[in-house]
Amino acid sequence: MSLKICVLASGSRGNCTLVASPAARILVDAGLSGRRTIECLALLGLEIGEIDAIVIGHEHSDHVRGLPALAGRHRRPVYLNRETAEAAAGHLPDRAEVKIFTNGQTWEIGDLSILPFSVFHDSRDPVGFVIGWRGREVTIATDLGTPTRLVRQRLKNARVAILEANHDPDLLLNGTRPWRLKQRVNSSRGHLSNQAAADLLAAETGPDLTDVFLAHISLDCNRPEQARQTVKAALKRAGKEHVRVRLTYQDRISEVVEIEDGPTPDPAAEPPPPRPVQLELGPFLTKAPLT
Ligand SMILES: [Zn+2]
Ligand SMILES: [Zn+2]
Repeated sequence: MSLKICVLASGSRGNCTLVASPAARILVDAGLSGRRTIECLALLGLEIGEIDAIVIGHEHSDHVRGLPALAGRHRRPVYLNRETAEAAAGHLPDRAEVKIFTNGQTWEIGDLSILPFSVFHDSRDPVGFVIGWRGREVTIATDLGTPTRLVRQRLKNARVAILEANHDPDLLLNGTRPWRLKQRVNSSRGHLSNQAAADLLAAETGPDLTDVFLAHISLDCNRPEQARQTVKAALKRAGKEHVRVRLTYQDRISEVVEIEDGPTPDPAAEPPPPRPVQLELGPFLTKAPLT
């Protein structure tokens, strides 16, 4: 028995993560086109009809773009909070099966429990998620300008953390973006920098943590390997060098992390070899960047 986690895509052009147990499969966010989502699932041996639920963190188009196809034509149920449902109404087809959740209240899909928690971001009522499976927790927190106390709490028991490492402040400052956008990204309601993500992971994660995915990495204001090294260095300083730090990508799926339902493995043990999967650039990349 194992739980599989794969970030199908992450970044300002589209976010989507698969969390799959033997009994339930969910997508967190639907920021890829329907076609692209189906292509990514096929690489993992899954069909869209096998997805039990799509849970949405907030209404920005890089998180909801695929809903018209996935909730409409493919009839996959969508879970979001009321404010987000109102704000994303334009992406929800009339016949969509929409289920409204309340922040801070856990519900279940098959053998997965899902706890939405508030984050600080410039949308109506944004949330991150803790997905529980047989005593294991996967914490997904992207699009957060400030690591609030609640976010810190929700990272404590994570076995796998998907956390954004959006930008390098120098690259952001010296980049070609309009000043207004720079300010937005850098604000308390924008996105976390590499160092902020590193500090958060080093300080707030507990002994269960084995794997980190760095998400929502800016294409023009970050260098992925630099982000990874910043986080690895901070984890090492905190005595957590055994934690594996993985990247996520805009144009291809991440490695698949698989966690077993037995006891947490010895950190000193040899990690399993990574399973990278290469993909061609998807058609969604021809669209203008959205945040
Ligand atoms: Zn956003
Ligand atoms: Zn986003």
